[in-house]
Amino acid sequence: MVAHAESAFPKECCGILLGKETGGARQVGAAIACRNAYEGEQKDRFQLDPKEQIAADRKAREMGVDILGFFHSHPDCDAYFSATDLKNSWPWYSNVVLSVQAGKYHHAKAFIANSDQTSADPEELVLP
Ligand SMILES: [Zn+2]
Repeated sequence: MVAHAESAFPKECCGILLGKETGGARQVGAAIACRNAYEGEQKDRFQLDPKEQIAADRKAREMGVDILGFFHSHPDCDAYFSATDLKNSWPWYSNVVLSVQAGKYHHAKAFIANSDQTSADPEELVLP
């Protein structure tokens, strides 16, 4: 995730998190780097490629794990869940946001949106 976020700088990167949920705790086992399919200025927007989402879903099934969520980066910006992130999010899924400052990874936070996408709570994620 960090390598992908740094290499995409100053654009946003995005990707998919695979892993397992056991007893309410989510364990991310793999992060799949995806291309940013957003057609426009990518410094503060990202969009996943539906083909890559389908491929990730297939990979998850092969590995016997689930898609737990998604990650993306915020170039020269804090790791917070923006109004756009909230609008584009899906309930249940974890969302990791990585802050990349001047091309270097700075910090990351995880969020989970409520079911009507009006707010997102911080979430603790166990990363490999
Ligand atoms: Zn964002």
